[in-house]
Amino acid sequence: MVLSIKNIAPILQAQWAGKHPSTLIENIAIDSRSLQNGAQTLFFAIVGPNNDAHDYIGELLEKGVRNFVVTHIPEGFQDQANFLVVKNTLHALQKFATHHRNQFDFPVIGITGSNGKTIVKEWLNFLLSPDYNIIRSPKSYNSQVGVPLSVMAINEQHNLGIFEAGISTVDEMDKLEKIISPSIGILTNIGSAHDEGFANIGEKIKEKVRLFQHAKVLIYNKNKTVEAFLNPKVARFSWSFKEESANVFISKKSVLDKTVLKIRQESGSFEIKIPFQDDASIENAIHCMMVMLHFGYDHTTIERRMELLYPVEMRLKVKNGINNTMLIDDSYSSDFQSLKIALDFLESQKQHKKKSLILSDIFQSGLSDDELYSKVSQMVISNKIQRVIGIGKTITKFKNKFLNCVTFTDTEAFIQEIDHLNLANETILIKGARSFNFEKIVHALEEKTHETVLEINLNAISHNLSFFKSKLKAKTKMMVMVKAFGYGNGGFEIAKLLEHHKVDYLGVAFADEGISLKNDGIKLPIMVLNPESTSFSAIIQHQLEPEIYSLKGLNAFLKIAEQQKLKNYPIHIKLDTGMHRLGFEEEQLPELITRLRDNKTVLVKSILSHMATSDDLQHHDFALEQIALFEKLSSTLIQELKIKPIRHILNTSGISNYPKAQYDMVRLGIGLYGISNDPEEQHYLENVGTLKSVISQIRTIDTGESVGYGRRFVAEKTTKVATVPIGYADGISRHWGNGVGYVTIHNQPARILGSVCMDMLMVDVTDIACFEGDPVIIFGENPTVIYMAQQLQTIPYEILTSISQRVKRIFYRE
Ligand SMILES: *Cc1c(COP(=O)(O)O)cnc(C)c1O
Repeated sequence: MVLSIKNIAPILQAQWAGKHPSTLIENIAIDSRSLQNGAQTLFFAIVGPNNDAHDYIGELLEKGVRNFVVTHIPEGFQDQANFLVVKNTLHALQKFATHHRNQFDFPVIGITGSNGKTIVKEWLNFLLSPDYNIIRSPKSYNSQVGVPLSVMAINEQHNLGIFEAGISTVDEMDKLEKIISPSIGILTNIGSAHDEGFANIGEKIKEKVRLFQHAKVLIYNKNKTVEAFLNPKVARFSWSFKEESANVFISKKSVLDKTVLKIRQESGSFEIKIPFQDDASIENAIHCMMVMLHFGYDHTTIERRMELLYPVEMRLKVKNGINNTMLIDDSYSSDFQSLKIALDFLESQKQHKKKSLILSDIFQSGLSDDELYSKVSQMVISNKIQRVIGIGKTITKFKNKFLNCVTFTDTEAFIQEIDHLNLANETILIKGARSFNFEKIVHALEEKTHETVLEINLNAISHNLSFFKSKLKAKTKMMVMVKAFGYGNGGFEIAKLLEHHKVDYLGVAFADEGISLKNDGIKLPIMVLNPESTSFSAIIQHQLEPEIYSLKGLNAFLKIAEQQKLKNYPIHIKLDTGMHRLGFEEEQLPELITRLRDNKTVLVKSILSHMATSDDLQHHDFALEQIALFEKLSSTLIQELKIKPIRHILNTSGISNYPKAQYDMVRLGIGLYGISNDPEEQHYLENVGTLKSVISQIRTIDTGESVGYGRRFVAEKTTKVATVPIGYADGISRHWGNGVGYVTIHNQPARILGSVCMDMLMVDVTDIACFEGDPVIIFGENPTVIYMAQQLQTIPYEILTSISQRVKRIFYRE
């Protein structure tokens, strides 16, 4: 795509304002953080429910971006750039993508359904790439924004498109259908996911199949409800395990760890083997096979390629590496589009100044190698990557296109040399095509700890933040509590994400938590809830803002502040309105006022109090009394001191239960991490943390044999026992053992047998098909932390914050 602003304006039906209508646009962007934004970028200022990209235009101008699609030109920027003014920037983006799509006329596969879209897309890419130049949605870019961005990447060299479409409510699909305009449709499994947006399953199916309204053919699992909603003009190519009338009838049987599928068509039958046994993978694989049949592949090729299908990893994972490195593991794909995304992710997550890239040959760009590696090199430079390690024959050939680059012809050669490459104190993006087996590199560079990890879903955190923001008035500020290592979820990574979302404040319990965030480069203001007098100098040195809750503390702080001749140093005054933990009481206000009146060293940035019962409506009256007292005491301070502080009293459950008391700011804690005390509200939050381990060993014991210390479990029948390397030293309560609790293995509950040991626990897997090395979920979607807390007679806070620091945290985005 190279179009001038002048030519783009009519496509978007936009009003143009600016001085340089002939500026050529080479790429489009919606993420202000990307270092790839430049003078030839057209930035679409998308307005979300809680985030308005118009707010970032100033920043982007400073970075050299000169072309914007906006709903209005923010004041002061009129003459500084080209502005295309439209009613709705998202719709404009969609129009642009539709226009772009219409320039091309090759087969496009459109995939929708509730589950399996991304896997089917990735597998089709794998199965068909030997014969086609494929453009596909990167990762799971399937939304109202993701689809247009994917489609915009089509170029002249492509001859097959594979795009997925995901919707969450009615009326969304028509827009995606226009943009993708698929000629071949695939309807994957229609499960119960995302049912909230639809009245019922019928409505959901009806909406989804709108993707296929103009398709030539639809591939689907034969189903009458689906057929009732299909446009009769669309040809059908169906398969079934049950309906003999389907075009392709299939029977399956398990053989060792594989599944053999017998495929019967009018034209004859054949068998294929796939390396999976679970229903979801089998269904996804069948959809892919149907496409191969539709494309006329012979049975031998189908059989050969299907046998090589592999588990798809869709996420970018952040891991701790050796020598204080941080690894971003994207070791499953290397195409130009996903490299762009991964570089943006690297920038948003980097923990060190120094950024490096380990990159394999790139396949299927649709460009000549020379052009391709020039483009990659440009991208590497604009992303300020200090060092490139190229692996593969082609990238080795183009080595001198990069500045600081070493290359190896294959992965093994690199691994041999790792010790001599001085990889240390840097963030490293590891990105390679599957055939390069970069998981070996990740394994070699990963810090070795035991097999238990706490996986943190950063998208879920963003979602939960938006959910709580949506409950607030537009002007209410948000402080997010990241104390206790982000409630056990990771301090820095979460703070970094919150900074991007422009929350107003962070809150920590102790000075050292705040210091480490500041040292890692967090710029947001940070309030320290419980500063000790001995930490005041360090607090000032690191620009942290103390909560002052006593006269003694105030005097001590003022003394240091005066010595250092500070002016208007921000402090936060805590009032005790009934919690009786920290804070000034009513009787102390006169002295507090005397001490602060006309004092220029400090500035009362905010006044706060904390509620004892915001989560328990039994104590509704008490909560209202606390709020009333807060109103009274804070008003007194405001009048007497003639100040305009931020007032705040609500924590998470306060936001839900006492929205009228949101004052100027709220302090969100546990809600961010996906937990609400209200079952109704819980429904809208997403699970953030999943504590995972693996099966170390499996054995079978006979009736009468026992498991673990004290022989507290004795088998009443032959029992298959799996040992999992996580114990009370990792934060799993001993009360969770002895039949109380369970873990989940392959979606099935396995109860804990006997007592939880220090580093291990044993579970009953008699009825679960599993192997040593298989994943085990300790908590996450099931069991939930809330359920565990109920069973253990504690609160989710304790469970989350108990997870030991020896458990590795892994952060990912979907
Ligand atoms: C921890 C804390 C919060 C957040 O509480 P949640 O219940 O987790 O939302 C708010 N304010 C203060 C003073 C806190 O200590």
